[in-house]
Amino acid sequence: MDDCIFCRIVKEELPCTRVYEDDLALAFMDIAPVVRGHVLVIPREHYDPLYAVPERLLQHLIGVVSRVARGQMTGLQANGVNIMQANGAVAGQVVPHVHFHVIPRFHDDGHSWNWRAGKYDNPDEAHGLARKIHEAIVFTQNTSS
Ligand code: 5GP
Ligand code: ZN
Repeated sequence: MDDCIFCRIVKEELPCTRVYEDDLALAFMDIAPVVRGHVLVIPREHYDPLYAVPERLLQHLIGVVSRVARGQMTGLQANGVNIMQANGAVAGQVVPHVHFHVIPRFHDDGHSWNWRAGKYDNPDEAHGLARKIHEAIVFTQNTSS
């Protein structure tokens, strides 16, 4: 992916501030941190979106995410960590190379997520949506094996 920013970072065509790397993954500082210490974890290989990534690689990536989070807790004395991951522009994704945001949180960081808690019209609505998701998961499993 010649025009992918994160592939160019992997190839060292663009600079980044590295936090951790191994054969499969790279963790580096986000250039525009939501909170100071904000890290991105990416696979070296180009994949997008999340559900295109082989599960074994995903398992590795979430392990790296966990290690970075622990590093923020102990190394930065963070009070907590948010993990964020966006798929699609409508979800806020800007760079289409799968990545996890690992964001350290501090009691005085001044940040808050502007989530609005919604509600279902009735229990049937939630049950119907759950059934559609469940059936799609089962269908995908059956057609991919
Ligand atoms: P997204 O909105 O796609 O989930 O997040 C993309 C993230 O990549 C943003 O937080 C943005 O600040 C970060 N980013 C974009 N370009 C660069 C870059 O060239 N270098 C680094 N280190 N981070 C970048
Ligand atoms: Zn890429």
